[in-house]
Parts: sequence; C-alpha cells; structure tokens
Amino acid sequence: MSKQFDVVVIGGGPGGYIAAIRAAQLGFNTACIDEWKNGKGGPAPGGTCTNVGCIPSKALLQSSEHFEHAGHHFADHGIQVGKLELDLAKMLSRKDAVVKQNNDGILYLFKKNKVAFFHGRGSFVKATETGYEIKVAGATEESIVGKHVIVATGSSPRALPGAPFDEELVLSNDGALRIPAVPKRLGLIGSGVIGLEMGSVWRRLGAEVTVLEALPTFLGAVDEQIAKEAHKAFTKQGLKVELGVTVAEVKTDKKGVSVSYSSAKGEAKLLEVDRLIVSIGRVANTTGLNHEAVGLKLDERGAIVVDDDCKTNLPNVWAVGDVVRGPMLAHKAEEEGVAVAERIAGQHGHVNFNTIPWVIYTSPEIAWVGQTEQQLKAAGRAYKSGTFPFMANGRARALGDTTGMVKFLADAKTDEILGVHIVGPFASELISEAVVAMEFKASAEDIARICHAHPSLSEATKEAALAVDKRTLNF
Ligand SMILES: Cc1cc2nc3c(=O)[nH]c(=O)nc-3n(C[C@H](O)[C@H](O)[C@H](O)COP(=O)(O)OP(=O)(O)OC[C@H]3O[C@@H](n4cnc5c(N)ncnc54)[C@H](O)[C@@H]3O)c2cc1C
Repeated sequence: MSKQFDVVVIGGGPGGYIAAIRAAQLGFNTACIDEWKNGKGGPAPGGTCTNVGCIPSKALLQSSEHFEHAGHHFADHGIQVGKLELDLAKMLSRKDAVVKQNNDGILYLFKKNKVAFFHGRGSFVKATETGYEIKVAGATEESIVGKHVIVATGSSPRALPGAPFDEELVLSNDGALRIPAVPKRLGLIGSGVIGLEMGSVWRRLGAEVTVLEALPTFLGAVDEQIAKEAHKAFTKQGLKVELGVTVAEVKTDKKGVSVSYSSAKGEAKLLEVDRLIVSIGRVANTTGLNHEAVGLKLDERGAIVVDDDCKTNLPNVWAVGDVVRGPMLAHKAEEEGVAVAERIAGQHGHVNFNTIPWVIYTSPEIAWVGQTEQQLKAAGRAYKSGTFPFMANGRARALGDTTGMVKFLADAKTDEILGVHIVGPFASELISEAVVAMEFKASAEDIARICHAHPSLSEATKEAALAVDKRTLNF
C-alpha cells in the first residue's frame, strides 16, 4: 500500500524545499520529491537555484571580481601583485564545493524538520479517496499519496530554434557555469539578468564579450535612468551590446560558432565567436509530470495555471515558483512556498508582488523594488523623485567604487515610496531597506529622518530620500 502524507511536494528547488520545510514546521507529515542528480548520481536538492543558477553564478561572480580587482584595482590601493595567474580549474571546483555545501545543507534541513525526501521523478498517477497518488521513479520505483500536492518543478532554459544546447559550443546557463578554458571571443544572445551575469564573469576572466539583444532598449524592465547608467558602466568595461537585432541562424563547426543576424537598421551581419551563451528566457518544467492523468490545467506556454493564492484547477493541488506565472526569482518561489504551506494550515499566507526585490549581480550591481519612472508615467501617477550619486558618498569613495546612484520615487501628494532603484556597489544589500520601507508603506521622509550609520553606503539611500524633498546634505 502507498505511504500516505499530508503534503507531497514535487520539486526540491527554493519553492519546493522551503514549502516542504514550512509544511513540516506546521505539523504536516511531509514528503519532498526531487530528481536532480549530482556528478555521482546522488541527490542534489536545491533545484536550478542551487545547482546551475543563483548560487554557482554568485560564486563565480565573486571569484572573477577578485581576479579583476587583483588585476586592475589593487594597485590603486598601493598593493602590487606579481604576475597575475588564473587557475580556472580551482575557481570552478570552488564553485562546485559551494554548490555541494548548499545541497548538503538542504538534506540536513529535511532531516532536522522530518521531511521525507525521495530522490527521483515525481508524476501524477490518479486522484484517490485520500488525495493524489504520485509515482516516484528513481533508483527504485514507488508510489506515495499526498492529501495536498504542491508542484514546484521549476523551469529550464529556452533554446533558440535550430540551435539546441550542446553545452560545448552553444551553452545554456548550465554550460556557461563550467566552461573549461576562458574563451577568447564569447557571444551572448539575450541581455537579461542571467546573460549579463554570465557575460560579466567571463569578461572579467579575459573573454571579449559581445551581447546580441532582440529588444530595442537595454534592460527594458529596469528604470530608464538606472539602465542608462548601467549601460554606460558596462560599455566602459568593454562589454559590447548590440540592441534590436534579429538572429537568423546559428552554425557551429570546429572553429566555433557563427551567428548571422540583422542589425536594428536591417543590415546583414555575422558574429563569429568561440562559444555562444543563449539566454533568451526559460520554460516551465511540466513535461514528465503526467498532469493529464489528473486533469491539471496548463496555459498555452506550458506553465501551470494558478490563481493569486497558487491554487490550481484541482482541489488541494497547488503550484509555486518558476512553474507558474510571475517573476522567475528564487525568493518569489520561496515566498509562494511558505504562503501555500500556511494556507494549507488554514492561515493567511500572503505574497506582496509589489515588494519583490530584483537584483542583477553585475558590477555595478543593479537592484530595485516597486515601480519604475516609466511605469508611473504610463499609469499617469503624480510622483516626485530624488537621486543621490555614490560619487558623493564617503564610504563609496573609500571603497574606490563610486559608480551609480540611489533613486527614490514617491507619491507627489502623500510621499509614500513607490519605487527605489539602485545601481552601484552592494545594491543587492542596500535594496532591503527599501523593501522593508515599502512593506510598511513608509514615506520618503520616514527614510530621510532615520539615522543611518556613517560612513556607510546606506547613507546614499537616506540622501536620495532627502533629495525627494530637494534637501540633500552632501550633494
Ligand atoms: C544562471 C542563473 C542565475 C540565477 N540567479 C538568480 C538570483 O541571483 N536570484 C534569484 O532570485 N533567482 C535567480 N535565478 C532564478 C532562480 O534560479 C529560479 O527562479 C528558482 O530556482 C526557481 O525555483 P523553483 O523552486 O521554482 O524551481 P527550480 O529551482 O528550477 O527547482 C525545481 C526542481 O524540481 C525538480 N523537478 C522538476 N520536475 C520534477 C519532477 N517531475 N519530479 C521531481 N523533481 C522534479 C528539478 O530537477 C529541480 O530540482 C537564476 C537562474 C539562473 C539560471
């Protein structure tokens, strides 16, 4: 007879493993099924985020930033290094070790919280009297039943038509995180978050990086003023970005990859590179779930259809994270996982989509929360804005990193903060203050009146809030 659980989670990425832990904390007998395998065929929970996403990319971004600092910035601090050498194999194995620490950490958390972990692929078999029967196909095959099922199967990289990923020459995020030798010429199709982060890593390590982007604007989702500042900084670093292109064909041979495309002006062009990273979006992982067996509804793109509460069309079947609508971000997946576990427990789990922070971990980092200036204009909302440049911040000068600014957007009448946008050092950390402020519906004046440590980058946040009222103190 199949083992019965209160909650079965399919997928052990940030959406799934966090949902499972929260469900167990709430007293539910919980199972989590995940199929990701490490190099030895063993379990590697944590999903895209831990294995080929957030964590390894940040490990390589950190290592490559150290390399760039040692090569180009240490001398400014009076530090001379001898001949700078790159041990790429060591850098990649350090990244793998960081990934493993995270995989092991999740397995430990499952044990600590008494979540039953199943390594294998989970798929629906049928609805039963006590829930849903799920088959787990791993080293062995077994069936379990969940009164509630949370689907958190994540997403996979989208390939360009006619150019499948071979992870040798045409790379997804997976291959882009393990190129064995720094390519001389690296092409990138797509200038989204993932593309820019991967491009930054390999540019810092010595590759000549060219980015082809279909959209006519650079970082279209980012506040225009911030995107312009970032574009300026990336161009200065040597990143070549061509906007408004249409890719016609990708060909690979022994010499590398050639991309024929037409420019924004319609000229036929050819980009020849040693390797090509394709980062043009991601698709929901729903194949293999056998969703038809229970009638689980998908949309035309293959994502699971959910309402605002992450409920699917089936009673007691929920879905969270990349496999449903909304931003493909690990912390969004986690928040949805927690909210669903709490809803199952009869609580009022809630995710505020307006206060989900976005971060691009390039250098300078870009981070924002809430509305952009172009969104406010389009909505006809009356607003005030205030900016403060890191150039005028003492800590940024001491760091030797004065690129960028903090920008506040506040309601013209009430002064409520509507959006905060940062390009500059440690934007990823600074944005938290803005998220908290917006969650508590703070005004720009609230931030302006709060004492911020000196010297700190957070003073730029306070000054940008002061700038909304045209009364900066240090600029
Ligand atoms: C290079 C890169 C960098 C990124 N950086 C960031 C970042 O800095 N910050 C951020 O917020 N987001 C980042 N993301 C996005 C982030 O990784 C995703 O939003 C997040 O992983 C989504 O979590 P999830 O739980 O929905 O799915 P996933 O992390 O994709 O996890 C899904 C899991 O389910 C498993 N699975 C799928 N189908 C089945 C099945 N039938 N049975 C069993 N298991 C199954 C998969 O193997 C996987 O382990 C990045 C992504 C990439 C690619």
